[in-house]
Amino acid sequence: MKLHKVTSQSIKEAALIIQNGGLVAFPTETVYGLGADALNPLAVARVFEVKERPNFDPLIVHISSLADIERLCLKIDKMARTLMKHFWPGPLTLVLPKSSLVPDIVTAGLPTVAVRMPSHPVASELIKAAGTPVAAPSANLFSRLSPTTAKHVKEQLGDKIDLILDGGRSPIGVESTVILLASGKAHLLRPGGLSLEDIENVIGAVKIQIPKSLSPLSPGQLPRHYSPRTPIRFLPPGKIEFEKGKKVGLLAFTPLKAKMPCEVVEILSPEGDIVEAAANLFPCLHRLDKAGLDIIYAESVPKIGLGRAIMDRLYKAVGDSRSE
Ligand code: AMP
Ligand code: MG
Repeated sequence: MKLHKVTSQSIKEAALIIQNGGLVAFPTETVYGLGADALNPLAVARVFEVKERPNFDPLIVHISSLADIERLCLKIDKMARTLMKHFWPGPLTLVLPKSSLVPDIVTAGLPTVAVRMPSHPVASELIKAAGTPVAAPSANLFSRLSPTTAKHVKEQLGDKIDLILDGGRSPIGVESTVILLASGKAHLLRPGGLSLEDIENVIGAVKIQIPKSLSPLSPGQLPRHYSPRTPIRFLPPGKIEFEKGKKVGLLAFTPLKAKMPCEVVEILSPEGDIVEAAANLFPCLHRLDKAGLDIIYAESVPKIGLGRAIMDRLYKAVGDSRSE
């Protein structure tokens, strides 16, 4: 595996690897993605293999121009076009009926495909240079913590992939918001880097409960996901007694008001800023996971703006099947 800083040369090399069916990890504004040519079923199969991802779990296809979506999707309704106009490029994934160009392995056999146009300049340049849509889940092992730096990718996928492009830290730090568009209505499949409030300001109410008929299996809906290897629980309200002799770590939203008997404390946002907290979520969890702790306690954050995505990831990390 090679690890290169982003330069125009390394982007060219990465594009060539993708064209030849290889795998490249690259920065996006949400988290690092593990990219393969979305139109090459063998390359996509390698993504599933390397991530140890179950093949019922569909991938997001990344594009760099609006022309691409016309090739990938069949019915792009008015609401989809409105969302694309307002929020692309950016941390919003749209699920739409797929065209026959999209291999079944990408969508796990579903008749729909998830598409996103990232705003990160490196992601955008790489997709353009590759000249093909790029299927890219997060560049981590299935169900583990998502990577927001090249180092996180190296630790989990190391020699199993062809190249890591190091473009610094992913600025948003949580995955994209996934919206399914069906029968002229929008359904939230996964809260993420674009807040529900921002989306609803543009298209009105979004459905939070997904009807069973529209509910394909997806990682965002699996009960345990985004998990550290260290056991993690929510911090119960009120005064708590930690078990004697256990090494405890705490993931706090803001600085602690009272001292706690913890080995390590990670603060998501010194000022209580929810956007900063989202950007720090995975880096803090990676550090806690490496600290040799017996247990991690996580404090809840307010479910406003990106707080909804943070709480979703924490519910999944503790294995709580709630999504709201
Ligand atoms: P990630 O592992 O971060 O790439 O997550 C992919 C997300 O995309 C999942 O949470 C799914 O909800 C969603 N997804 C991808 N393709 C589809 C699809 N065809 N239908 C519904 N959800 C999808
Ligand atoms: Mg993922």
